[in-house]
Amino acid sequence: MNLIIFGPPGAGKGTQSNFIVKKYNLFQLSTGDILRDQIKKKTDLGIKISPIINSGSFVSDEIVSELIDGFIKDDRFKNRIIFDGYPRSLNQVKNLNNLLIKYKQKIDLVLKLSVKLETIKKRISERRILEKRADDYEEVAIRRYKTYEKTTEPVIEYYKKLNLLKVVDGERSIQQINKEISDIIDLILS
Ligand code: AMP
Repeated sequence: MNLIIFGPPGAGKGTQSNFIVKKYNLFQLSTGDILRDQIKKKTDLGIKISPIINSGSFVSDEIVSELIDGFIKDDRFKNRIIFDGYPRSLNQVKNLNNLLIKYKQKIDLVLKLSVKLETIKKRISERRILEKRADDYEEVAIRRYKTYEKTTEPVIEYYKKLNLLKVVDGERSIQQINKEISDIIDLILS
């Protein structure tokens, strides 16, 4: 099973993905984590993308496609991927569809964690203290939320039309969300 998890920054995508990964033996492909790791390791790519990420803008589709290609073609991850933070635009959907066809795979489920901007602001300021992320300042977080709404909402609509979308209320406790997501996945696997 391959699935996509959507939600604005601070929605709990990472937390929920960790839980799903463990429970269903999947692999989490978080483009944000991979890109941040490149910055930390000061690779050529990391140096190039550092100012882009720190300002809250998107890295180019070409860079992200190349990353994704490397994972989808890898047999270890075949039909076991949770896409977290990708695809983020309709153009990235097109690129992903091409890769899925190329490697004979498909998306089985799309989850959307819905959370209000007020909740996001609160969570982001807590995370900034814990994780020291340079893009977790309130101003940048608001920009990322707005970018998310503008560019990702059409993507979510796309998957809704394909009947793959399940919306989960991300305002509730971690355990309650875990439970709802498990129920959705169990139904698909049964
Ligand atoms: P995230 O951790 O998913 O919020 O991503 C953090 C940052 O990484 C984003 O604000 C973008 O700068 C970059 N990024 C992550 N995923 C993508 C993507 N699919 N396309 C373009 N940029 C991305």
